[in-house]
Amino acid sequence: MRELAAIVGPEHVEEAVRVGDTARTGRARARVRPADADEVAAVVSWCYEHDLAVVPVGGGSGYAGGAAPLDAEAVALSLDRLSAMRSFDPGLWRMEAEAGMTTETVARRARESGLLFPPDPGAAEQSQLGGTIATNAGGPHAFKYGVTGDWVTGLEAVLAPGEIVRVGGPVRKDVAGYDLRALLTGSEGTLGVVTAAWLRLVPAPEAQLPIAAAFEDVGAGCAAIERVLASGEVPAAIEYLDEATMEAAGGSLPEEPARALGMRMASGSGGASSYANGRAPFVLLLEADGAREEALRVRDALLDALHEGEGLLGLTAPEAPGDVRALWRWRAGVSHAVTARRGAKLSEDVAVPLDRLREAIEGTLRIGERHGLPACSWGHAGDGNLHSTFLLAADHPGERERADAAAHDLFALALELGGTVTGEHGIGVLKARQLRHQWTPAAVAAHRAIKDALDPKGLLNPGKKLP
Ligand SMILES: Cc1cc2nc3c(=O)[nH]c(=O)nc-3n(C[C@H](O)[C@H](O)[C@H](O)COP(=O)(O)OP(=O)(O)OC[C@H]3O[C@@H](n4cnc5c(N)ncnc54)[C@H](O)[C@@H]3O)c2cc1C
Repeated sequence: MRELAAIVGPEHVEEAVRVGDTARTGRARARVRPADADEVAAVVSWCYEHDLAVVPVGGGSGYAGGAAPLDAEAVALSLDRLSAMRSFDPGLWRMEAEAGMTTETVARRARESGLLFPPDPGAAEQSQLGGTIATNAGGPHAFKYGVTGDWVTGLEAVLAPGEIVRVGGPVRKDVAGYDLRALLTGSEGTLGVVTAAWLRLVPAPEAQLPIAAAFEDVGAGCAAIERVLASGEVPAAIEYLDEATMEAAGGSLPEEPARALGMRMASGSGGASSYANGRAPFVLLLEADGAREEALRVRDALLDALHEGEGLLGLTAPEAPGDVRALWRWRAGVSHAVTARRGAKLSEDVAVPLDRLREAIEGTLRIGERHGLPACSWGHAGDGNLHSTFLLAADHPGERERADAAAHDLFALALELGGTVTGEHGIGVLKARQLRHQWTPAAVAAHRAIKDALDPKGLLNPGKKLP
């Protein structure tokens, strides 16, 4: 403790703490909060010298237990004090920010200058840029704009045994070496500690025009998604919510979309919408964006594609900025509304090829039935990425175990359909055993070789990512 305090200052070291994320916490011998990259390097170097594990901790919004130490002697390394904007050149569409800046602050700073930082994972106010890069997080608008790594042109990181490296930078192209920037992105703190990133930005679209549409069943909704793609237009987002998700979250829909999607207002409810009077068996949430004229043109083409087939029950296309914001705010709260249904849930993030989406959505419900748990799913339909969820009452004996067994079946289903056990949240500790099912032994060995080369003592976030 004394030696760590000498590096970061006594007020920035705590002894015997619990840290982690939304999925899991663990005990650490100490938590340190360095002020800059040099202090991060000194902490990693000290841990390497003393054979102590180092667990990078961002905003703790992860869903895979990645920031939870597995070894009570570990040192948790919080990045929150590295929150400076090192440079911002709006005219050149780029910024260099430190890892501890929240994802929302990055997006807001860009927005204030008429620019867009497109990655939009749900917990943007809590998550940090470093954690968002370390999980290569996605979000609803990843369909058009890609995931976080697509917007990172360079990284500053501390590698073992405590060296600061810079790969890439403010250049938009760089093929000089192996792509270490991409390797560190999504590595979940197992190859190095990200201390800062150079980001590419784009001018913000002038208009964002969403459409919410209800369909009579999963088949009709999935057919509509394929028609949307075949239309040749590029929506910014293609999200879906199944019937049980709408049952949980539909009650908080703003009034107009609630009516349009067939969920009428309960009389005498004082303005609160109620699901009780209607159903929405399958809902799609699309968005057209761009210069206003272009966004309107794309939205019309999307509306045509939605209307063309069978099974459309109703739709709404809000235009007023307040209504658009309210719709997306509602979408951001869906996960919490589903949790509230029974008090707890196990929510996964498998992804499948788009033409297998319907099987994955229906398969999720069957798996829930088999394990005696209510199930639902919603997610980023355009990316084939499902948040397949099993609802639990935390105090009901045996439900947690049944949910784990259901998740196991879900991973098997995703792989059978040609997909992946995780499209967004990463492997962390929760899914580490799944990798052997997804990868061939040679692919697992290649990953192991990379880990051994960059972290020969195996002290960077041990027990995560690799089996
Ligand atoms: C309500 C909600 C909605 C969400 N929606 C989405 C979504 O739409 N899409 C999506 O992809 N994710 C989503 N997530 C998951 C999560 O928000 C993202 O993965 C997030 O960006 C993680 O950032 P964090 O700073 O909280 O990371 P943490 O949880 O603190 O850490 C995540 C992992 O990154 C490592 N790490 C953290 N900081 C660093 C660093 N500086 N250097 C190296 N390693 C580091 C940790 O060790 C851990 O392994 C959601 C989470 C919540 C709670």
